[in-house]
Amino acid sequence: LNNNLTSNQPVKKLDSDGVFHSWSAQGSLDPLVIKSGSGCRLWDYEGREYLDFSSQLVNTNIGHQHPKVVSAIRAQLEELSTVAPAHANYARGLAAEKILARAPEGFHKVFFTNGGADANENAIRMARTITGRDKVLSSYRSYHGGTGSAIVATGDFRRVPNEYARAHVHFFTPYLYRSDFWAQNEEEESARALQHLRRVIEAEGPGSIAAILLETIPGTAGILTPPKGYLEGVRALADEFGIVLIFDEVMAGFGRTGKWLALDHFDVTPDLISFAKGVNSGYVPAGGVIISERISRYFDENMFFGGLTYSGHPLGMAAICGTLDAMEEEDIVGNAARIGSEVLAPGLKQIAEQHEVVGEVRGVGVFQAIELVEDRESRQPLNAKSMGQAKASMVESGLLPFVVANRIHVVPPCIVSVEEAKKGLSIISDVLGSIRR
Ligand code: PLP
Repeated sequence: LNNNLTSNQPVKKLDSDGVFHSWSAQGSLDPLVIKSGSGCRLWDYEGREYLDFSSQLVNTNIGHQHPKVVSAIRAQLEELSTVAPAHANYARGLAAEKILARAPEGFHKVFFTNGGADANENAIRMARTITGRDKVLSSYRSYHGGTGSAIVATGDFRRVPNEYARAHVHFFTPYLYRSDFWAQNEEEESARALQHLRRVIEAEGPGSIAAILLETIPGTAGILTPPKGYLEGVRALADEFGIVLIFDEVMAGFGRTGKWLALDHFDVTPDLISFAKGVNSGYVPAGGVIISERISRYFDENMFFGGLTYSGHPLGMAAICGTLDAMEEEDIVGNAARIGSEVLAPGLKQIAEQHEVVGEVRGVGVFQAIELVEDRESRQPLNAKSMGQAKASMVESGLLPFVVANRIHVVPPCIVSVEEAKKGLSIISDVLGSIRR
């Protein structure tokens, strides 16, 4: 795969000739070409440099090509590059130990998957098995992954215990800036959102609900930190009705919010935690479910009907071990917290003061967002054309942003330096200043 390419063109041609892209109509794509990276920077084949304020899909928490992670993967590759999930392997056991050491007290086991979607699939599967119920309640404002039909399409015996109807029910979760509950403050938003959830549970029939699945801090939906008391209230409802509570930490976990897990910001413990992305920054795909004692004990005696050929893949596991060790040794989680509170939060506040087009800024750690509006009075989201132009201008200025709907998510790697964070904010500010509505 070594090449001496000095032009992006052959790469673009190969891509457009043969690669089918995610979540896109294929006809008019013009993907940015990336050759290599280091830390928070990326380069194309022509030497153009980009500052990565997206962490790709908010997953390269440790930045690109961290030498400790690369060498952990390389060492494992030389010893054993794959092994069946039924065998015991040092890298897998060590990865589980390191993850459990960062989970709340009372979590006993880790089931490994290939990524975040199948982490949620398996967390839901565990909740359904243990409760004997099928419905899953989750937020309209969420993303939990792109799978869902594979096991039901399966023809062999493994399908049977997983053949549930499309038993998914959605509800509204807190978002004070665009409150669905006519709330004026966080207290009202939290109390009314909890009352709404109680009504949904009652109306659906508590005896049919296996799980409530929530991103601890919804990410793609807009970085919506729940108000005080909300998650604690959801925990109380789950307990009252015997429902398994699953927190999806796929995007918010492993340093992104300035703590190991986003749930560390709250006084609440779920029953299952799904994770992926930041656990090894995606150097090798991996994810999983962290399982509380009660649920892990249940599966001591009862069969678990789930599994993946690459569950606990040794290269993914080595990447987890290398990542978590490096994050610890270099205080990368602390860096995310400091950059968040000392550079990003004040910088975004200033941007909000300078630019009328900003409706709200919010977030924590290196997990922050700028919400753009047509005008502050109506709060109407900024139109798609202006958003597209803003995104193109940022890329033109050497910044790789993470843009969703009418928002710029400010999500650089957790290792981002003060200078890099300031440079990224300055490009964003210049681009916002040039928006013509
Ligand atoms: N859960 C959350 C919160 C996510 O943000 C994502 C991906 O963005 C997923 C699950 C799905 O993870 P994956 O794409 O690894 O399947």
